[in-house]
Amino acid sequence: MDISVIVPLFNEEESLPELAAWIKKVMDENSFSYEIIMVDDGSKDKSWQVIESLQQENSNIKGIKFRRNYGKSAALYCGFDLAKGDVIITMDADLQDSPDEIPELYRMIKEEGYDLVSGWKKKRRDPILTKNLPSKFYNWTVRRMSGIKLHDMNCGLKAYRKNVIKSIEVYGEMHRYIPVLAKWAGYNNIGEKVVVHSERKYGVTKFGIERFIRGPLDLLSVMFISRFVKRPMHFFGILGILMIIIGLAAAIWLGVEKIIQLQNGIVGNLITNSPYFYIALTAMIIGAQFFLGGFLGELVSRSSTDRNKYQIDETTFE
Ligand code: UDP
Ligand code: MG
Repeated sequence: MDISVIVPLFNEEESLPELAAWIKKVMDENSFSYEIIMVDDGSKDKSWQVIESLQQENSNIKGIKFRRNYGKSAALYCGFDLAKGDVIITMDADLQDSPDEIPELYRMIKEEGYDLVSGWKKKRRDPILTKNLPSKFYNWTVRRMSGIKLHDMNCGLKAYRKNVIKSIEVYGEMHRYIPVLAKWAGYNNIGEKVVVHSERKYGVTKFGIERFIRGPLDLLSVMFISRFVKRPMHFFGILGILMIIIGLAAAIWLGVEKIIQLQNGIVGNLITNSPYFYIALTAMIIGAQFFLGGFLGELVSRSSTDRNKYQIDETTFE
């Protein structure tokens, strides 16, 4: 099979028939063999009934229905799991992403050798203040932190080589950082294509202001996990050593100060009156806690099932 199109959707009943027909038209024109995986993320409207009836007309449409709303990442994860195409395209259900981009995305993966091609909504048709500006800032931050030169990290329209999606695990709200996950899994050939973006035709956006809090927190998790998941002690240990050094320095200074005072005949000046006493105390306690965190982290990562999971590209073993 050439292409799997994965469509995560939540309450998008009005858009689905148009979307399915449009994708079918593009696929037929280019004579691709394909499947459309519609993942109903616990919709409360008639989306699932719509999917079932669309399936009657087009057997390339497949559906998954969640019992409740788990989020876009969960929907993508399940879609990725079942996808059979050589190239996997993800696309929002709300008709903001255009299926007409599919052939070119497919070609970039197949012929230009990209592992992942992300859409770039250069002319974005969304509210300026709540979406476009925050998104510019967000993309700039992620570019700086991850070193991936994408203008539009979180574009719903993306294309992947099959082994990329089979080797990453999207969870939580990580759908915003799939290129980071891909890079971390060893896929460095990440490209970008300017795509047409339209205004939302039906329904409303499913991501409110909570994304301003969740997004940055997830970025921190991604960066932390990608660096330290297999060696937590390297993170906590460095902080621990730092704190212990500060504590020791303060303690030594306390002693030196005392000796100087004694030599100058100052007696009875309590060590606990010095600010360095409290610095030494807190720094050492915190330092010990960091080490404890590090050791616990090591224990956790030691018993993790994928502690020895690596992406092996090729071997010459039989
Ligand atoms: N979506 C989903 N589960 C959710 C929220 C959103 O599957 O919990 C889908 C939604 O139906 C749409 C896509 O994710 O197909 C992008 O959502 P939306 O268009 O609301 O985001 P925006 O374009 O406003 O950023
Ligand atoms: Mg949208």
